[in-house]
Amino acid sequence: VEVQAKDLERIRELGRGAYGVVEEMRHLLTGVIFAVKRIHSSVNDESRKRTFVELDACIKSKCCPQMVRFYGAMYREGDVWICMEVMDTSLDKFYRMCVDSHSIVPEPFIAKVALCVAQGLNFMKEELNLIHRDVKPSNILLNRQGFVKICDFGISGHLTNSVAKTMNAGCKPYMPPERIDGDTKDAYGVQADVWSLGITLVEIAAGAHPYGKWKTPFEQLKQVVQEPPPSVDKNLGYSDEFHDFVKQCLIKDCKQRPKYEQILKHPFIINAQNEHEFDLGGFVSTILDASNVERDRVLKGISIENDA
Ligand code: ADP
Ligand code: MG
Repeated sequence: VEVQAKDLERIRELGRGAYGVVEEMRHLLTGVIFAVKRIHSSVNDESRKRTFVELDACIKSKCCPQMVRFYGAMYREGDVWICMEVMDTSLDKFYRMCVDSHSIVPEPFIAKVALCVAQGLNFMKEELNLIHRDVKPSNILLNRQGFVKICDFGISGHLTNSVAKTMNAGCKPYMPPERIDGDTKDAYGVQADVWSLGITLVEIAAGAHPYGKWKTPFEQLKQVVQEPPPSVDKNLGYSDEFHDFVKQCLIKDCKQRPKYEQILKHPFIINAQNEHEFDLGGFVSTILDASNVERDRVLKGISIENDA
């Protein structure tokens, strides 16, 4: 069945971003529930529309368990509606729930997230020839079944109008050094996404984004390009493998930074692949359902188990 905007009924809001809103909607003809992202788009130019249609077909054609299922995009009243699978939460909201309980996010969780994101990005590159360009906690979604999936691949960048783009060009806290100051040909390699993954992992492990708020692009340039890369505090109790994984992802010189082939062979990732004890779906459900007090106890329990 071809989904049309007129057949969709709004259920509730799932979240809001810089460019629009994401809502849960029911397809009236089939009863299927979608997450619909509505972006105000001033894209009228034919060639950009064509690129978009091609991209749409490309992403619809292939998917993997680490990518949020994409059902297609449509135009309505000058907006673009992007239809995708509904997930239970996003990593930004989820890690903040842990921080609010004064607990660190357990390492087996972080390891599984790193594994899935690396697998998803690798699949995108190998099978769809796509580079994500916007890897960050809010674009990593989780569900109670234990799936970790990336979303917002490629599409948004093609749609948002150029004014919005230039306004937001700098000051993106997940941008690698080569995109802030470097050769344009390096700026969009696969390694850019590897850097953003590294920043994402530091953020969820440390409980806060490693860089402060920049007031000007110059401050960003100074910090990201000139200072040593961020790392996770050794006192938080994470493994040496994790610290090394982050260090590899955050190699400032993009030519030295590993690509997915190497990333997927790192001991931190291999261990995550061999770890079958940790029940990520159960953990996500428990945290989402728990009251604040209960959540405290669950998280403390997990970190004690890890120490044992
Ligand atoms: P951003 O990613 O910049 O925060 P978005 O507009 O892409 O902005 O998404 C806004 C929020 O909507 C996200 O932070 C996430 O929590 C939620 N969201 C996005 N897509 C989905 C989805 N498929 N299922 C459930 N929640 C989603
Ligand atoms: Mg997003």
